[in-house]
Formats: sequence, structure tokens, C-alpha cells
Amino acid sequence: MSSDPNCVFCKIIEGKIPSRKVYEDDDLFGFHDISPWAPVHFMLVPKKHIASMAQLTPEDSALMGKIMTLAPQLALEQGCRPYPDGGYRVVVNTGAEGGQEVHHLHVHVMGGPRPWLRG
Ligand code: ADP
Repeated sequence: MSSDPNCVFCKIIEGKIPSRKVYEDDDLFGFHDISPWAPVHFMLVPKKHIASMAQLTPEDSALMGKIMTLAPQLALEQGCRPYPDGGYRVVVNTGAEGGQEVHHLHVHVMGGPRPWLRG
């Protein structure tokens, strides 16, 4: 499993930086955002270091599919209300103009009662 020694999320996955874990399996790690934008805000990341969505290859399709099918289940476990009255927002910031600050691919899952949601 490729890891970048300078990457903060690789360090979280390896337990070198503490986090509030919501999920872990062989491929994925999920943890609460340290600076939440919403009442529920966690991230799902591949354990393998992929800098951003822009680096994905066809070999990563199953990995990303796993994240997208896991997100709804974890969102409910973490306190989001069910669709359609509840729900959540799933975001992948990519590159400087996409607002990406940590360069280890991460999928934000945000939800909870309004008015946190903008736009
Ligand atoms: P942005 O900072 O604009 O949200 P990103 O999409 O790259 O950019 O998101 C990085 C996220 O990682 C931020 O929401 C930030 O709060 C979170 N974060 C940074 N360091 C940690 C950490 N040690 N533990 C948990 N979350 C972290």
C-alpha cells in the first residue's frame, strides 16, 4: 500500500496523527473532519496515497465505487436523517481552483439540520 511520509492523511491512516475514526477496512479509512462545516462532517479516503481525483485511473473505479456506496450508510450511522427529507452533501475538492488543501484524495460527507448548507 503506497503511503507518502509527508502526507497528513497518510499519517492519520497509519495512526501517527490521532483522528475520530468512523470507518476502516483494507482499502478505506473514514474520520471526522477536525474543522467541520456541518453538524455531521466526516471524510472517506483511500488508504493508498492518491493525490487527488485528477490522478484516478480506471483501476481505481471499484475503490471509488466502494466509497460512494459506503457514504450513504455511514451518513445515517453518523446522524444524518434519511432521504428525501434528510440527506447530506458529498464533495470532492480537486486542485487549487477546486479548493483542495490536503493532497490526499478525500470525499467529504456533510449533513445535519440546516442552516449550515449554503447554495
Ligand atoms: P478545505 O480545507 O478547503 O476543505 P480540502 O477539501 O482539501 O480543503 O479538505 C481538507 C479537510 O481536511 C478540511 O476540511 C480540514 O478541516 C480537514 N483536516 C485537515 N487536517 C485534519 C486532521 N488532522 N484531522 C481531521 N481533519 C483534518
